[in-house]
Amino acid sequence: MQPMPTDWQRALAVVAHPDDLEYGCAAAIADWTDGGREVVYVLATRGEAGIDTVTPDECAPLREAEQRASAAVVGVSTVEFLGHRDGVVEYGLGLRRDIAAAIRRHRPELVITLNHRDTWGGPDGGGYWNTPDHRAVGRAALDAAADAGNRWIFPELISEQGLEPWNGVRWVAVAGTATPTHAADATPGLERSVRSLMEHKAYIEVLTDQDPEEYVRSFLTGNAERNAARFGGRPAVAFEVFPR
Ligand SMILES: [Zn+2]
Repeated sequence: MQPMPTDWQRALAVVAHPDDLEYGCAAAIADWTDGGREVVYVLATRGEAGIDTVTPDECAPLREAEQRASAAVVGVSTVEFLGHRDGVVEYGLGLRRDIAAAIRRHRPELVITLNHRDTWGGPDGGGYWNTPDHRAVGRAALDAAADAGNRWIFPELISEQGLEPWNGVRWVAVAGTATPTHAADATPGLERSVRSLMEHKAYIEVLTDQDPEEYVRSFLTGNAERNAARFGGRPAVAFEVFPR
């Protein structure tokens, strides 16, 4: 894998749920914000369908607060929620428009998202089935990088919200794919990525009987170490980069 591009200043991370970035790539984000780069989080949903024993009305503010806390751990202070319904996010023009608007508001050079493919992949190309929300949001983020730059697509973003086109997205980097092309060294940010994921307390509590810190640490360290074989032996966060 090639090293991730570093000649950028602003990134926008667009994912479906609270915790997607913490499972996917927070170690890289911690290192980037340390280096003085700005990273903003945009979440399509508030993750309100994530906990079986908690109703969506109670769950949404809880998970929103946990997401803001986990973002703060890795140096991210702006977290926006687009308000799509958790579990039933639809790929379509509404989602593309919402993400294009976010890209125009924040004017990133790098857009980060999570696996948009049907499966999580694996050596045999199979593996676990991905969720519909991840597929929808990942695909829409890839599409919206171009939509944001074209004034004739979603002209209402200009007339109603004053959002001028931004054609400055140079790469869309997809975390969690089976076919990564690039990687970022996970070592400097790994400890903070553990603490960042642990901020999702309510969610993790119902997910596993294991000690939360043990569970989080072994998951994130295991992922980073698996990527090391293809990144000069360094633990890494892997991305599939689509240049524009
Ligand atoms: Zn998710």
